[in-house]
Amino acid sequence: MKISEFQKLIDELYGKRDKKRGLDRTALWLMEEVGELAEAVRKRDKELAEEEVADVIAWTVSVANLMGIDVEKAVKKKYPGKCPRCNSIPCMCPKEPDSNLDFDHDPD
Ligand SMILES: [Zn+2]
Repeated sequence: MKISEFQKLIDELYGKRDKKRGLDRTALWLMEEVGELAEAVRKRDKELAEEEVADVIAWTVSVANLMGIDVEKAVKKKYPGKCPRCNSIPCMCPKEPDSNLDFDHDPD
């Protein structure tokens, strides 16, 4: 299945319900699904992670539908067959992009 076909399917299945729920609450559902995926990863539960990966992608597409974003176009634009930063395959960027995630961070 192509990304565009999946996006169309999600719209056919849930488009009406997504519109009624609205963008903010749909985005919140996506966050909840991301949390469930994180939990499945933490537990190393592959079977559950498989389900959650599918849910995260489906809810991401619902958010895109509500914002009028063509997912396939967006993905191809951002990732045109090579790393968008170093233009290499595989990525040759010297390090991961800066992140606010710091697992050793001490709040005090
Ligand atoms: Zn790169």
